[in-house]
Amino acid sequence: MPKRFSPDTYAAGILAGDRVLLSRAITLVESRLPADQELAQQVIDQVLPHAGNSIRIGITGVPGVGKSTFIEAFGNYIIQEQGKKLAVLAIDPTSQRSGGSILGDKTRMDSLAINSQAFIRPSPAGKSLGGVTRSTRESIILCEAAGFDVIFVETVGVGQSETAVHAMVDFFLLLMLAGAGDELQGIKRGIMEMADAIAITKADGSNINKAKSARAEYQNALHLYPLSASGWVPQVSICSALQNTGLDSTWQTIKNYLQLTNSNGYFEKKRRDQNLQWMYETIRQSLEERFFAHQQVKDQLPGITSEVKEGNKSAFAAAAELLKLV
Ligand code: GDP
Repeated sequence: MPKRFSPDTYAAGILAGDRVLLSRAITLVESRLPADQELAQQVIDQVLPHAGNSIRIGITGVPGVGKSTFIEAFGNYIIQEQGKKLAVLAIDPTSQRSGGSILGDKTRMDSLAINSQAFIRPSPAGKSLGGVTRSTRESIILCEAAGFDVIFVETVGVGQSETAVHAMVDFFLLLMLAGAGDELQGIKRGIMEMADAIAITKADGSNINKAKSARAEYQNALHLYPLSASGWVPQVSICSALQNTGLDSTWQTIKNYLQLTNSNGYFEKKRRDQNLQWMYETIRQSLEERFFAHQQVKDQLPGITSEVKEGNKSAFAAAAELLKLV
C-alpha cells in the first residue's frame, strides 16, 4: 500500500487536476481496508461541492462490437474537436487481467492512454459487481472534481452491469453490430429499452449498406417502446471508428438530449433520483458486509448452513436465527 496522505492533500491535489493524487484517491475508493475507506469518504466529502459538472455517458455493447476502438475514436474527437477533458472508467467485474480490462491490454486505446486530456481507469481486478459499481460511482465524483467534463463509463454488454451503469449516467449509448437479418438478437431487450441512443458500429466498406438497413430496423423497433419520462425519443446512428465517421452526429445527439432534458427539468430530476438510489444501495451493501463480518455469524454460519442443506431446519428459521445474532 502506497503512503497515505491527509484528506486535505488528496482534495487539494484533485481540485488542482493532479492525476497522480486522483489515481491514488481512486485506489483508496477501491480498497477494502476500513482505514482506506474512511479516508476515501473524507476526500469525497471535501471535493463533492466541486463535482457534478460533467456529462456522464454509459457505453455498452457485446465483446467484439468495437467498444474500445469506438471509445478511442470518439474520445479523441471529443477532446480535439470539442475541447473537452475525458475520463474513461470501466465496469468489468469479470476482468481477470492484471490492472483490469483496459490498460491491461496494451492494444486498447493506445492514443487516448497517452493523451494529457484523457484519464483512463480500468476496473479493479477481482471485485464483485457491487464492489465495482460502488467504486465507479465514487470515482466519477473524483474525476469530476479533477476537472474532467465528460465521463465515459464502459461496460461489457452481457450481464447485469448495464443496469448498474444506467443508474449512474446521464446518457446511455448502446453499440450494436449490423447483423445478417437477425438484428434484434444477441442483446437483451431490457438493454435496448435503456438506450438513449444506438450507434451501429463498423459502418465502413462493404458493411455500409447493412449498417443503414440495421439503422432503419432499430429505429422502427425503438418506436414501439413507450415514450420515456424524459420526453426523449432514442436515436439510431451509424458510425465507423476506423474512418472517424458518424462521431460528430453521435456527439450532436448527446447535445440534443442534454438540451431537451435540461430545459424540461428531467436531467436534474434523474440525478437526484440516482443519488437516492445510491444512498439506499450503499445502506444495503454495508448492512450486508457488516452482517457477514460479524464474528458470531461467522462462527455459526457453517453449522446452520449444513442444517438447512440436510433439511433439518427451514431456510426461514435459519435466516431468523442468524439475523438475531447481529
Ligand atoms: P470490443 O471487444 O467491443 O472492445 O471491440 P474492439 O474495439 O476490440 O474491436 C473488435 C474488432 O472490430 C477489432 O478487430 C477492430 O479492429 C474491429 N473494429 C472496431 N471498430 C471498427 C470499425 O469502425 N470498422 C471496422 N471495419 N472494424 C472495426
